This record gives sequence, structure tokens and C-alpha cells, in this order.
Amino acid sequence: MRFEISKVLDAIEGRVCTDPSLARAVVDLAEVIRYQDIDGGRPASLLRLGMVIDALARELEEDSVPVYAVVHRALLSDADLTSNERMVVRRWADDGLVEVLDNPGDRMFEVADLLGLPVLTRARADGLRGRYPWLVEQAGRVLAPVPGAGGPVFIAHVGGGHTPVAGERSPAGAKLLSRQWRCPEPGCALFGGGGGGGAFADLARVERSPAGQPPPSLRGGAPTCPRHGARLGDAGPRPRSEVLAVRVGGLIRRRFVLTEDQPAVVGRAPDQSGGIVLGQWLNDEARRWISRSHVQFELRVGEVIVTDVSTNGSGIRPGGSMAEGDRVPLAPRQSRVLAEGDMVELYPGVQIGRPGELPAGAPYTPNSVMAEAPTMAMRLPK
Ligand SMILES: [Zn+2]
Repeated sequence: MRFEISKVLDAIEGRVCTDPSLARAVVDLAEVIRYQDIDGGRPASLLRLGMVIDALARELEEDSVPVYAVVHRALLSDADLTSNERMVVRRWADDGLVEVLDNPGDRMFEVADLLGLPVLTRARADGLRGRYPWLVEQAGRVLAPVPGAGGPVFIAHVGGGHTPVAGERSPAGAKLLSRQWRCPEPGCALFGGGGGGGAFADLARVERSPAGQPPPSLRGGAPTCPRHGARLGDAGPRPRSEVLAVRVGGLIRRRFVLTEDQPAVVGRAPDQSGGIVLGQWLNDEARRWISRSHVQFELRVGEVIVTDVSTNGSGIRPGGSMAEGDRVPLAPRQSRVLAEGDMVELYPGVQIGRPGELPAGAPYTPNSVMAEAPTMAMRLPK
């Protein structure tokens, strides 16, 4: 039982991040874990975060939709959580996967404003409507997770609807995210040189790339570390980045970020660190065809270059066309610029492209982050 819960928490860990290119919604962890009406379980449970993330994935019809979680510092020692859950949250904090704050205040809404993300909360934000007009003007930007038949569902605070909708980054957000920032506080997990520095630094799995830095907080107009309250130093332009998505069987399974420093290898089970592993989504035939390392993506002067590094080769679908005659072979060792709308096809139904340009596939039920223990929440002691 304990072991299975650990596996579920590990799965949830893959769905929390503070990377502005990958996060899809903002939540307050202290709030979400206390939605006792969702499962009738303990006063606080980290598994409820997984349930809310699952609900988000269902609404967006995409697997692996990470959330940006702000976390009140008191949660790291909250007696309503199990010691295992507290340890996991501390690890997330040390790795910079979540944003720990002494006083979260309106930070959840500030992050949503800067990044153009929806907020999943039951909190009324009436007092903030003057500052953040999108709270009223854009349906789907604030939704309350509430109990539903097959897990949580969302209800819009303003207008109708239940689907979270992203907006544009605010002008302040766009400006802040064009630069890299440094916190003067040593070992800052959000604006330091690289992952962690705390008690769990040896477990830090995230080497934070400057392209993945969270948005600073604006206090009195100055970029400030939300964790330490210290004014941030400008460390130069933020490196370019581009987001690509893997689609298998008509459903986006995950997105990944490409930077000029960090190429990405995609395959059945790449050896390279940071490689994108497809194995778990492939049937036997696709597993036999697709090489351990199959294609490599690089970002060079703003262009995405794809190189086939496989045994069997790949194909390009220019402009995303699925017509049989339109597939251009990409032979082993061959490279090509990924033009706008282009899709790389590793095997029929296994494609990589820019997420907004991948044509919609058949409706599909995303894999649950709870998949390793599907009835876990039901079996928790009440
Ligand atoms: Zn800091």
C-alpha cells in the first residue's frame, strides 16, 4: 500500500513544474489538497492534486498537463499530511518544481496573469478584478474544481463552461520572461544557478535551464524573488526556446522544451539524459520499428532541425498533411529544418510537431496520473 502510494506520488511529481513553457494551469497546493468533498478521505491528501490534474487532462484532451503550484511554507510541516507526503512536497520545493512562499497572497493570480494561464481555485477573486480584467472578460480563466461523477470537474466562476482556457501572457509577463534572473539568496531553487541546494539537494533531478525559470514577482515594479522577497538581478537575455509535442494514437502525450543548449533525443528508450521516452505508449510493432534513439531535435538560430538517428528512418509530413503521397522520407543520418506546420512521423500514428499545429486526432481518454493504482483514492482509510 505504502509502496503503491509512493508510485502515485512519483507520477504526480512528473506533473508539477514552474516552467513557463510547460505549465498549463495554476493551483494553490494548500487549497487543493483540502478538497475533502472530492473523495471523502483524510482532511488533507496530496492525491487530490493528482485528481485535479487528471481532470485538467480530461478537459484539455491531452496527457501530461503539468500545473504550476504555489505552496504555503506551512504545508511543508502540515500535520494533516503523512510524513511521506511532507517529504515529497519538500523534495518538490528543493527541486524548484513548486513555488514555496511565506505568504502566497495573490501570487497564484499574478502567475496566471504573467503566463496567461487558467487558475483552478474555489477562491473568489472579486477584489482582484480591477487589477486582472481577464478574471471577468475571459471565460474559462478561473474555474473551481468540484466533485463530479468520475472525479473532479470544473465550474467557471464567471459565465458558463467547464473547460480551462489559456490567454496571452500579459505585457509585464512577456517582458519579465525575455530575461534571465538571479536571486542573491544562495541555493535559491527558483532563481539560482541550478536545481536545489536544500536538504534534499542530492535528490534534485531537475537541472534548471535558464529558459525554464519561473516568472519573477513584480513588487513596486521591481522583479522580485517570490520566495525570498529579494530583488532579482538581471542575468541577460533568456535563451530562445521552442515547445514540441509528442502525439501517439491521436493524443498529445507530452510536450518538451528545446533550447539552443539542450537538444532533445526522442525514441523508444533514449540513453541520453533528458531523452524523451516513448516506450510506454507503443504497441509491439511500433516498439520493434522505433529505435531506442530515433530522432534528434536541435534549436539553431531559431530554427528547429530534426535529424534521424534511427535504424529504420522517419518521415516528414509537410504542413501536417496525412495524405499518403505527401510523406517525405527522412533517411537515417539525414537532417531537415522543421518548417511551420511540419510533423515528424516515426511510425504511423507516432508524430512530433509544434503543439498548436498538430491536427486534432480522435477523442481519447488521457492516461491517468493515478494509473499505477487506479482505485487508490477509494481505498484510502477514512
Ligand atoms: Zn530566491
